[in-house]
This record gives sequence, C-alpha cells and structure tokens, in this order.
Amino acid sequence: MTYNNMMKKKFADKKEAKQLVSKLGKEFAIVKNPGYIHPEYELYPLAPKIKKPASNLAASVMDMDGTTTTTEALCIHSLEYMVRKLSGRMTDEQWKGLDSIKDYPHIIGNSTTKHVEYLISKYQKSFNNNQIVKSFLYAAGWTIIYGKDAKRKEEVVQNLNDLNCSGLIKDERLLKLNHSSLPDDEDEDQLSAYLFSQYNLQFKRADFNSLVKIGIDVYYQRYHEILERIKLGEGKFIAQNLFGNPNKHLIEAMPGIEIFLPVIKGLVNSNEDIFFDQLLNDYEIKSGKRFPDKNIDKARIMFKKICNHFINNPLKVAIVTSSIFYEADIVLREVFKIILSKLDKLLPESKNKITILNTFKDYRNYYDAIVTASDSNEIRLKPHRDLYSIALYKLNVPREKFAQVVGFEDSESGTIAIRAAGIGLSIAVPFAETSGHNLNAATYVCKGGLPEVILNHNLFLKLK
Ligand SMILES: [Mg+2]
Repeated sequence: MTYNNMMKKKFADKKEAKQLVSKLGKEFAIVKNPGYIHPEYELYPLAPKIKKPASNLAASVMDMDGTTTTTEALCIHSLEYMVRKLSGRMTDEQWKGLDSIKDYPHIIGNSTTKHVEYLISKYQKSFNNNQIVKSFLYAAGWTIIYGKDAKRKEEVVQNLNDLNCSGLIKDERLLKLNHSSLPDDEDEDQLSAYLFSQYNLQFKRADFNSLVKIGIDVYYQRYHEILERIKLGEGKFIAQNLFGNPNKHLIEAMPGIEIFLPVIKGLVNSNEDIFFDQLLNDYEIKSGKRFPDKNIDKARIMFKKICNHFINNPLKVAIVTSSIFYEADIVLREVFKIILSKLDKLLPESKNKITILNTFKDYRNYYDAIVTASDSNEIRLKPHRDLYSIALYKLNVPREKFAQVVGFEDSESGTIAIRAAGIGLSIAVPFAETSGHNLNAATYVCKGGLPEVILNHNLFLKLK
C-alpha cells in the first residue's frame, strides 16, 4: 500500500505499522513506562542532529533545574529524607545517606516518579511497615492543610482513597489546624502519632506501585515545606539547619545565565565589553579553566555580532520544566532576584540598564512561555516529548521551523525529550551532578555551559 493511502487509514496491521514507523526517522528513543501504563514502552522518533550553523534562530527552549538554575541540593535532600522517613532511620548514625556516586545519576534530571521508583527498589528492604504508614499519613495530612498546589492535593486524596484511608480527608482534628502557621518538629511528632492511631488499622498494605506513590507524597511534602519556608524568608534558617551553612544559596543561578538570557532577547545594545568580560568569568567558574587567551579577541568581536544579531532577531524563549508550577514559580522568582542583582551590580547607569532591569524584575516579563509539569502529568514528563511539544505550541512555532529552535538541557532525559519533540539542536550543558549522565542524544555537549555555547559556538549561528 502506498504511503498516502496508508495515511488515510485509522488502523494499521503490523506490516503497515512497520512501514509507517520507519518513515518517521532513523533513530528512536525507547522510553519505559511505569507499571500502570500501556504499552510497556514508547518509541520516539528523534529529530536528526543539526550540526550545520543556522543563519537564523526562532526560539530557545530551556530546562530549569540544572540549566537555568539549580535546586538540586534541595531535591536530593528531600529524596534522602523520604528514604529516611520510610525506614525510620533519621540520623546519620543510623544510615549514612544516599551514595553520591551510585545513587545520584538515578535521582537527578529525571521525573520525580523515576527518582522515587529507583530509591524504593534499592532501599525497600530497609523500610519499616509502621513507618511507611506514619510517614504517608503525615505527608497526606500536611498536603491537605498546608499544600499550595491543587493538583498535588488531588493526588494525595486519590492515594488516601486507594489505601483505604479516605476518612483522613474529613478528620476534624486535622481540619482544625491553623493553615497559616507551618508545623514544627514537635507538632509533626504529635500529628503523626495521632493520624497513625486513627488510620493505621484500615490502611491497605502497599504494593510496589502504591509504595512509589507514597514515596512521592513524602518527598513532595518535604520539598514543598522547604520551598514554602524560602518564600516566607526563612532561607538562611533552612540553609543552616540542613546544610550547616546559613549563607549557602538553596537556589542558585547557573553561571552565564545572566548574560545569556538578555543577549538572546536582543536586550544587549550597549556595554558589550562588560557583558563579555563577565562571560569569560562565568566560563571559568563553569568549566574550571580559563578561556584561552589567544581566542579572546576573536570571541569578543563575535560576541558583539551575536548581540547585534539578536537585537534584530530576538528569540522567543520558553522555560520547560518537569517541576510543577508551584515549585517553578518559587524557584524562578528566587533565581530572577539573583540575576537582577548581578546585572544591577555589573552595569553602569544607562537607559539600556533600566530596560534590562525592568525585564528581569519578574520572570513572567521575560519568558514567552512557561511550561511546567502542571501543564501535563507526572506520567508524561521528560524523557517523553510532551513538555517540549507544549512549549513549541505555546510559542507558536510550526513544524517547518523546528530546525530554527535550540533546546538546552543538563540531563539525559531532557536531551532525549528535546529531540523527541522534533528539535535537532539539542544542547547538553551538564553540571557537576549530571556529569554521570549519558548525553549521547545531545547534538553538542558543552561542559562549559552557556558561556561555552556563546564563546565557542556563536550560539550555533552562522555569522559573517
Ligand atoms: Mg535539568
């Protein structure tokens, strides 16, 4: 049967399906699905890698965690905390914690479900049944009373129903708690003990899939509690408590992002030398080595050309994250505060400075599209193509223009998701914690991050 005739059909037999699939590409990603999804895996045709510099670009789609910013310290802490809670080993003496070499590659840069699945499989033997019930009931109760994300609450209610504890949703003592003041450790102990005494007997024993859902609830409770405290201005207190250093930034801006973002929006029309020198600094911070002296003059000239190019052809920019909106909102607010203060210090007073600072006062001024897990569902996050496809849709970039889109990611799943969405220019900007990832799906791997993307690659543009 001809291709055109096949395209008119709604169903295909195996032979026809094979023909159709082979038309879609030469390389495919195999993405495994969790236990409750049919089929067992998805096959994604990957856009061929584009190595030829483009004469023009239309859009940039960028990951948040690990690319624009990092909250990894908090996420890793919350995952470790989840394992501690389910096993009842809260101190370092009882358990030394996650292994940075063996565990980190499996718990960074993927979806929360995948991270939790890995940890449950690995540490399940150390879990304690009573601790599982207690941790889950507390996390569920906390989310219902203090949680700020509606979808998260729905998921918790669903889990309570599945585990035969739906009574908790209407528990009078729980509902009487003061919504506006977060519980401290003592409140937590009391509430956990109370909920356990009320609902333990009816709790349905958890199989692996339920255990993963419980792990997710416990993880999110911890992570959201920390984010909420950061929002309330308790960042230093948290940093001291969790990491022993009140000055540790819990949310950091990636090196070079404060230069990269204004450049691609065509906002840099003066002080190019100041931006360039900062970029050289950021290059050194990110890659651990100096940008070669012999290349500086040429790179400086190219940098001016890049700035000029984007003044005339500003990119549409989307942030694309597997975090839910509630988290992305807090993280982006914090990171834009950092970017704003860096730019404020860096630039001399000028009209251009005012324009740039105004744009960075609010991340919503800057981005043309913000795509988070809340636009999709936990089961469709990276490496599935969905979030990037939604970004292209929101940015109104049609398929014919995908060759003019550049995507940035720090992880294996992210670089796959970009190409699975049809973008051939998938750039890996790995950072310390994703350095163990397989980045074969990336068109280029830039260990020097965004500074390298500009200094060594001219942002993948062909400039005269
Ligand atoms: Mg990432």
